[in-house]
Amino acid sequence: MKNYLFFFCFVCQSAFAQLPAPDQLSKHVYKLASDKMQGRGTGSKENQKAAGYVAAQFKKYKLQPKGTNGFYQPFTAKVRRVVVTDSLRETNNVIGFLDNGAANTIVIGAHFDHLGLGRQGSSKAEKPEGQIHNGADDNASGVAGLLELARYFSKNDVKEPYNFLFIAFGAEELGLLGSRHFVNNPTLPLEKINFMTNMDMIGRYDASRGVGIGGYGTSDAWPDIFKDVKSDTKFFTDKAGSGGSDHGSFYAKKIPVLFFHTGGHDDYHKPTDDPEKIDYNAAAGILGIHIQLIENAMKLPKLTFTTVI
Ligand SMILES: [Zn+2]
Repeated sequence: MKNYLFFFCFVCQSAFAQLPAPDQLSKHVYKLASDKMQGRGTGSKENQKAAGYVAAQFKKYKLQPKGTNGFYQPFTAKVRRVVVTDSLRETNNVIGFLDNGAANTIVIGAHFDHLGLGRQGSSKAEKPEGQIHNGADDNASGVAGLLELARYFSKNDVKEPYNFLFIAFGAEELGLLGSRHFVNNPTLPLEKINFMTNMDMIGRYDASRGVGIGGYGTSDAWPDIFKDVKSDTKFFTDKAGSGGSDHGSFYAKKIPVLFFHTGGHDDYHKPTDDPEKIDYNAAAGILGIHIQLIENAMKLPKLTFTTVI
């Protein structure tokens, strides 16, 4: 009878480790990519509002603030791609820590900024100025993933053998500025980071392509970690450790990385990158893969970095 009860409770507990659900992801994306957020351009008050939304969720999941000012790590970003009078803009990384009392830490990241009203360069619209670039896929989708992974690992009643650092990066669209600021001013020692995973654009899953997972060549351990992953969501791996997004800043510091990305599309960097075009079921499936990879990696000692040739 005792054994039976124990088994029952075990099942109960794992039921609490709720896998990321499509409706939760959609809630975050509709919030962050609404017209009210004005495209979360770096330096805008809406960019700060988006940072505040992330910080509020981190607080709800009882993460420890791990910025330099509570959850925030403020820095100044410089617009370089276009000439503007206000080229220096204040923004933040938003950083929350799940302390499991472990020696090493897994970093999970996603950038929360986008192109605002199209006045900071890199818009693909014909007349971008003044149009709201909502950035639902790029990268409200990745931030939604970040928040749901933070919820998953903080609410699963499991004390993992690694700590977690969740970072929403600022100013990625201006040239990976937030992630570079973090690795040059880390709020925990870089040598204590096991590996870093980055989500940038996980909302436009195409079943014929699958989700791309980069960074496969950044540690000799990844092939083993990937071996038993099971999912209805199709994926493929890519060796590259840098290119395209914030994981590159960690790779440059010789930290193993993974990068989740569903690929380019016609709305990329246009005002039409909207919440109703996101595939929330597939995004949840991608997070299922992400969780399996992290859980497999946690069975191993701290990964060794490999340079990708
Ligand atoms: Zn992006």
